[in-house]
Amino acid sequence: MSFNNTVTIMGIPFLNTTRNDFLRDYLVPRLDEEQKCFVVTANPEIVMKARENDTYRQIIRTADYIVPDGVGILKAAKFQKQPLQERVTGYDLTLDLLSYANDHGLNCYFLGAKDEINAKAVSEVQRSYPHIQIAGHHHGYIDMEDETFAESIQNSEPDIIFVALGSPKQEQWIMKHKEKFSKGIFIGIGGVFDVLAGKVPRAPKAWINLNLEWLYRLLKQPSRWKRILKAVEFMFRVYVKKD
Ligand code: UDP
Repeated sequence: MSFNNTVTIMGIPFLNTTRNDFLRDYLVPRLDEEQKCFVVTANPEIVMKARENDTYRQIIRTADYIVPDGVGILKAAKFQKQPLQERVTGYDLTLDLLSYANDHGLNCYFLGAKDEINAKAVSEVQRSYPHIQIAGHHHGYIDMEDETFAESIQNSEPDIIFVALGSPKQEQWIMKHKEKFSKGIFIGIGGVFDVLAGKVPRAPKAWINLNLEWLYRLLKQPSRWKRILKAVEFMFRVYVKKD
């Protein structure tokens, strides 16, 4: 990752860009030149995980681009007096990449989520983006070490590999297997297939604009409360402990 245009928060260098510029100036050139590219969309929970686990931090830092997914990251940057321009979320990037892939007939692979969710998400993608080539798709309950499985994905020559295993698994899988590939945008997108499949609702725009997407997700999935605590700890470290 080039450090020219980044803001470092707790040791994680975030690219300072906008959603539109990121696609146009960073991802499209990689796609055009068939270069490999590893994208991490990091929220406060991921930053905390990286803080607590050296191996995970090293993996994250091998990414070509780390973009701020979460209002907490923007608040931390502002507090450091190095504001980041805007949130660039895994969900929005997925939509942008799907739309670009549709316009250019690109080949996409969809790895992650439960079997029926994965299938439903892919059929929704096929319906809404009929010109995308589906390189293949597979649920995310896989043997992380399985080289043959990763090679079978590589053989389908995808331009974009959406990896929705949640963190840290998705970044670990990308790190372990991307060397086998000669091209491809690899992006970890967490629970996005659950949203595409309609299993988990995306927060309404008004909640997002009020920076309350995290609260909406907590209300819909109360089992997420532990993650919210991690985000609270992140904010505490930013504002109070200043480490
Ligand atoms: N998942 C998976 N394999 C696993 C563990 C999780 O495919 O071994 C999927 C899970 O079904 C869900 C996504 O990964 O679709 C994780 O969603 P979560 O909301 O936890 O993502 P995050 O909050 O990390 O974005």
